[in-house]
Amino acid sequence: MPSPVPVSISTGPASACALEDILRTDALFSRPAREPEHAAENRALLDIARAFEESPDTVLQTLVTIAMRLCRAESAGISMEEIDGTEPIFRWRATAGVLGPALGGTMPRFFSPCGVTVDRRAPQLMTEPIRYYPYIAKLNLPIREVLLTPFYRHGVPVGTLWIVNHTQPERAFDAEDARIVGNLARFVSAATAFLDDRQALQGLGLRLAELGSQMEVAYQAGAIATWTWDPVADRVFADDNVAKLFSVSPADANGGKLAVYLKALHPDDHARVAAAIQRALETGGGYEAEYRILRPDGSVRWVNARSRIFRNREGVATRLPGVIVDITSQREIEARLAEQNRTLEARVAERTAALDAKINEMEAFSYSISHDLRAPLRAMQTYAKLLLDEFMGPDEAEPREYARRIAKASERMDRLVRDVLVISRVAREETPLERIPLEAFVASLVETYPNFRPEVVAVVTHAPLHEVLANPAVLTQCLSNLLSNAVKFVAPGTKPQVRIWSEVEQRRVKVFVQDNGIGIPDREQQNIFGMFYQVKPDAMGTGIGLAVARKAAERMGGALTVDSREGCGSTFCLELHAADVA
Ligand code: ADP
Repeated sequence: MPSPVPVSISTGPASACALEDILRTDALFSRPAREPEHAAENRALLDIARAFEESPDTVLQTLVTIAMRLCRAESAGISMEEIDGTEPIFRWRATAGVLGPALGGTMPRFFSPCGVTVDRRAPQLMTEPIRYYPYIAKLNLPIREVLLTPFYRHGVPVGTLWIVNHTQPERAFDAEDARIVGNLARFVSAATAFLDDRQALQGLGLRLAELGSQMEVAYQAGAIATWTWDPVADRVFADDNVAKLFSVSPADANGGKLAVYLKALHPDDHARVAAAIQRALETGGGYEAEYRILRPDGSVRWVNARSRIFRNREGVATRLPGVIVDITSQREIEARLAEQNRTLEARVAERTAALDAKINEMEAFSYSISHDLRAPLRAMQTYAKLLLDEFMGPDEAEPREYARRIAKASERMDRLVRDVLVISRVAREETPLERIPLEAFVASLVETYPNFRPEVVAVVTHAPLHEVLANPAVLTQCLSNLLSNAVKFVAPGTKPQVRIWSEVEQRRVKVFVQDNGIGIPDREQQNIFGMFYQVKPDAMGTGIGLAVARKAAERMGGALTVDSREGCGSTFCLELHAADVA
């Protein structure tokens, strides 16, 4: 007979007959059963017991060998269900006899003799199973009969014990074989459960040993110290590291009272820690504290102590094993970092104050310079006008043109200086905020400024305009600049129209000023808030208006943005605090 190799079998060609054609289970009980062989069975029991005792790993092998021997079969084996990747299969965990070398082979879970046996939860006798399971041909062995019996784990069938008659024409399995295999299957259940549990335990043992050696390393490095307190007898058992840390005698380390240890604590931490332990004893399942230990040489160590409380059935705490970690260096680093942080903050505050002072000084300086510049400018304007009006005849075209240019340039210079004064005032002056009912405020602004007369511009406000927190002078500056631009930047022949409305969003009020002007190209929308920036050079403007408006918004804790499309008007959004924030 050829010797089979471990095979991994999947379903192959189609079956030549139906399952019921190979099942002969009924015959088991109709065939005359042979006499039980009690002596052989007793010997087998002893073999099983010895295998359990001496080398549990061989128990499954012993069981299949016994099954084969007692039933005079030519092969026997144990198959167990498992998942191979994602495939459910049966794997031959033990094999004996002709199929002995096929150990480790597999068969499909849902199309195999084992599958049928497990699904039917009863012994199955099959004759020439190859007819229904063509893949068995791969074994290259004749199989006359196979008898399979399920075995269980927690009541669930998980595999089969099977015996095979390959070639013996005179041998036919009967009820006696079914009884023997059934009994042995119970041993298989016990043995596989035992082996699996032992494997799990070995894994746990390894993990425990690993943890133990990690603890050992930490302990030897002095990083941790361990102790156990028995609160009923008030005895503390501490290791050398704890004894050293608390400076207690070897006698106290071996059963001294808790008070001896508490005495080593820094006086300022004593009461807090004692109370924490008491609280944990009364209510908690654990205890954690950070405290200082005052050493005999006056030095201080910071520690973190943690413990679990074990209680008896009555809820009385009987054991508190714990770990103490010396965190002195960590604390020192924290303290040093905090100190550095404080120094850094102080230095930043100092420099900011110095910078503020410098800025104030510079602003005051530029204000006074701007102010002083205006007097000579006014003189230039006046004298240029005098020249034109009093000293030049209408025929002196060239000198007249020069004088006119001097007047114009100084006028423009004056406008620039004025605007610089405005922005430095907005930036410098205190801006105390107050409640401003926006509706009335806008109405009076439009009324007061001649540029915003109804003949010049149609200003429509959409009530209600929400109350804001703002500074009246600064808000006037901001809104009047926006309105002036709305009037100024319209296409020729278009009457300016302005819509004003407001929205409330998270305690902020957004005031929108929308015009029907020429709009602002996308790429320019950020630039226009810069000082002296104009999209197209315009001698009438200075490019400061929007810089002033944005500065004004910021001084009031707000912001100014724009949304616009070239040729389609612009919408400026002035965001301010809502009045109810106060
Ligand atoms: P200016 O004093 O020159 O008006 P601003 O700072 O007020 O300066 O405005 C800067 C530039 O932004 C203007 O030159 C103009 O091109 C553009 N601008 C401002 N407001 C509007 C508006 N409502 N519609 C179209 N363009 C505007």
